[in-house]
Amino acid sequence: MRRSSINELLPPWSTRIRPYPPGKPLEEVERELGHPAIKLASNENPLGPSPKALEAIRKCLEKVHLYPDGQGYYLRRRLAECHGLDMNQIILGAGSTDLIELVGKTFLTAGDEGITSESAFYIYRLAVEEMGAGLVLTPLRDMTFDLGAIARAVTQRTKVIYLGNPNNPTGTMFTALELDHLLDVLPPRVLVVLDEAYCDYVQRPDYSRSLDYVRAGRNVLVLRTFSKVHGLAGLRIGYGCGHPELIEALNRIRSPFNANSVAQAAALAALDDREHVARSIESNLREMKFVTEELALLGARYTPSVGNFLLIDTGRDCEEDFVRLLHERVIVRPMKLYGFPTSVRVTIGTHPDNEQFLEALRCVMSAPVRLKTVTSDK
Ligand SMILES: *Cc1c(COP(=O)(O)O)cnc(C)c1O
Repeated sequence: MRRSSINELLPPWSTRIRPYPPGKPLEEVERELGHPAIKLASNENPLGPSPKALEAIRKCLEKVHLYPDGQGYYLRRRLAECHGLDMNQIILGAGSTDLIELVGKTFLTAGDEGITSESAFYIYRLAVEEMGAGLVLTPLRDMTFDLGAIARAVTQRTKVIYLGNPNNPTGTMFTALELDHLLDVLPPRVLVVLDEAYCDYVQRPDYSRSLDYVRAGRNVLVLRTFSKVHGLAGLRIGYGCGHPELIEALNRIRSPFNANSVAQAAALAALDDREHVARSIESNLREMKFVTEELALLGARYTPSVGNFLLIDTGRDCEEDFVRLLHERVIVRPMKLYGFPTSVRVTIGTHPDNEQFLEALRCVMSAPVRLKTVTSDK
């Protein structure tokens, strides 16, 4: 077959899709720069994985010649117990991004519509666009999801709504009351995907108790992940909670071994390591306070965040800031693609990480523009 015929095989929407640009890997940056750096680009847990998870990982390595339990029996049973749900209300994913896409594959086709917000997690858009469905984007209001605008954007064609709470990259949240109101005015057939990757960090009492909707049998899929507070991003494991009929529909399309055996074992152990979770949350709160106070002193503008990261508006070209910060040995994420051409997103790290970042930012904010030598996209 001629190579040029590939385009003829592709559905027409496929060639317009821009792939997800991940954070730059540490090894690659260190190789290019020739010196060590710190990665504050992907909101990973700066304290690392739970020691109990590491122990479980070591134990299960001897059995990696065997296929994983495709049903994820023990992990799903444990999660059901944790959340007061039935096992048949839980589905595992290779990270929650796997499930964001699985929703698209299960429900969307050309002619349907999926709604999300501008300046939200890029995978929501991909999940809609890769199925050839219509993508409807509503603007942010006060830097967070505008649930009123989303309700007004619903049409006969709308099947899925993706909500990030807290939202990445702004770090903002909507309240339980706002979500109640949205669910009350939506046509019941519309599925709401509630991505709560950062829920563990939220301290506000008006944050939604989303699993109550699941227990009440509403048309909601709540997504959680082991990539953030549990520190297992490299293993790729997350889960969704929904009503049994919804989970069954997703299971028909799900890739049979999407959650690998090492990840399942690690997640089970991580769930039981409450100390590691508590330590991670406490460290994030303390360091968030430190970083925001220092940013204020520096005169850098940022969006107050309920997550483990900050959107910082330096007022300068973010791609150039990215490169300059890289030369100061700190990897952040430029936010142009998300609609913030003068902002970077930075993960709250350990105290030494944060001091290094703030020192780097100080240098960058007082330095002249340098030539671009490294690009942010892989
Ligand atoms: C990090 C993140 C996730 C988690 O993705 P995984 O696939 O579970 O690693 C999900 N949603 C948002 C908005 C995130 O920022």
